[in-house]
Amino acid sequence: MSQFDVTVIGSGPGGYVAAIRAAQLGFKTAIIEKYSTLGGTCLNVGCIPSKALLDSSEHFENAKHNFASHGILINDPQADIQRMVARKNEVVDQTTKGINYLMDKNKITVFEGVGSFESATQIKITKNDGSSETIESKYTIIATGSKPSSLPFISLDKERVITSTEALNLKEIPKHLVVIGGGVIGLELGSVYLRLGSQVTVVEFMDKIIPGMDGALSKELTKVLKKQGMKFMLSTAVSGVERNGDTVKVTAKDKKGEEVVVEGDYCLVSVGRKPYTEGLGLEKAGVELDERGRVKVNDHLQTNVANIYAIGDVIKGAMLAHKASEEGTLVAEILAGQKPHINYNLIPGVVYTWPEVAGVGKTEEQLKEEGVAYKVGNFPMRALGRSRASGDVDGFVKIIADEKTDEVLGMHIVGARAADLIAEGVIAMEFRASAEDIARSSHAHPTYAEAIKEAALDATGKRPIHI
Ligand SMILES: Cc1cc2nc3c(=O)[nH]c(=O)nc-3n(C[C@H](O)[C@H](O)[C@H](O)COP(=O)(O)OP(=O)(O)OC[C@H]3O[C@@H](n4cnc5c(N)ncnc54)[C@H](O)[C@@H]3O)c2cc1C
Repeated sequence: MSQFDVTVIGSGPGGYVAAIRAAQLGFKTAIIEKYSTLGGTCLNVGCIPSKALLDSSEHFENAKHNFASHGILINDPQADIQRMVARKNEVVDQTTKGINYLMDKNKITVFEGVGSFESATQIKITKNDGSSETIESKYTIIATGSKPSSLPFISLDKERVITSTEALNLKEIPKHLVVIGGGVIGLELGSVYLRLGSQVTVVEFMDKIIPGMDGALSKELTKVLKKQGMKFMLSTAVSGVERNGDTVKVTAKDKKGEEVVVEGDYCLVSVGRKPYTEGLGLEKAGVELDERGRVKVNDHLQTNVANIYAIGDVIKGAMLAHKASEEGTLVAEILAGQKPHINYNLIPGVVYTWPEVAGVGKTEEQLKEEGVAYKVGNFPMRALGRSRASGDVDGFVKIIADEKTDEVLGMHIVGARAADLIAEGVIAMEFRASAEDIARSSHAHPTYAEAIKEAALDATGKRPIHI
């Protein structure tokens, strides 16, 4: 029987990073993945393919609506969804092959098959053809991720009533896409098809979209997406989804309790994701789940079985690729006797609509609830030279700082390249910078990042320069 120091089950951004870090630290490492390609949800049916389609559709949107204002005149551009999807598949292929290269480079043994515990130290790997082998591992890291969840009364036929996975592979552009759920995935994929010409209606149970983020971001994004043509039905509870031929009828109750009906040709169900533990044989190892079906872990991400750890979407916390990767690194380093730490307050959240939305640290709502005295600085993107040059003038930077100490407590951005800009907030807060520290740091001109400096100037002494 092959023996390993560390075995990782699942090759998403949690699992493959854990494996690489474990190998770097000198452990004899194996990774088990049930699919033939590595990279998990993120690389195959999540972050990477969605961003490929977002970028393609954004190019189309610009060609159609924005090139002319830059003096570029082209005749009636057409969107070829099949070519876009083919390009997306190439991007996924290159990216997942990159993970195979990294596994080879780090001398990690890759097993293809479903990993299932036989005991706390033995894992059986069952291949597609039914053959199996069992390996022994001193430590195991469960990184089996998540799957799309649905509502009990919805039957997903995966043709017209679809999840994000199918939405990344459509063969035609929907005429009317009804999106159930105004969270990150629904808005990103809704944006793709809106730009390609679909009518898009988002039905959301809460009274706002991206409910976990700072309220100001939600308001601004709603405004911008409405301007782009997306329709919203907020405070609306879906009660039924019925497919009839090429039509999908979504029935819901609005906030007055009255029945409303939306008809489309596709319905994307994006109401969240659930941890994936099926077929893992957790009972044979004695690993416990929590009340929401997630693998239960302590602060060191150790399960109730001492040599088994768990990371990423399958445990509590934000379902984000970079959170999973940080946890993979953390566990490998704990196994090597190091004392790593993750500041969960500083895991940034991003929505790749255009403009992008990003936030890190505390929201204003959280600080109010915690009774913390704070001050706020804002700066609109439209006041930046860089924004006017590109034409991307929507959005703002909002910085929240402690009223007394001036320490930055949160940074929230809507605007071009917010996803990249938020890294400044993460670093500033990781080093416990004050708004004054950011305000006094030189920011290259002309850049979108100048809005961060200006918002910091506004937060600390109300002294922005360009407004
Ligand atoms: C459409 C979409 C867009 C997204 N965009 C972003 C984004 O832009 N940024 C971001 O941070 N996050 C994004 N996410 C979320 C991100 O994909 C997840 O948070 C991330 O993939 C979680 O990583 P993980 O390693 O925990 O699990 P996963 O990536 O889900 O990987 C788990 C792997 O384990 C394998 N597995 C499961 N059980 C077994 C078993 N018994 N044996 C062997 N293998 C097994 C699975 O096949 C899978 O490959 C997106 C998700 C979706 C669906």
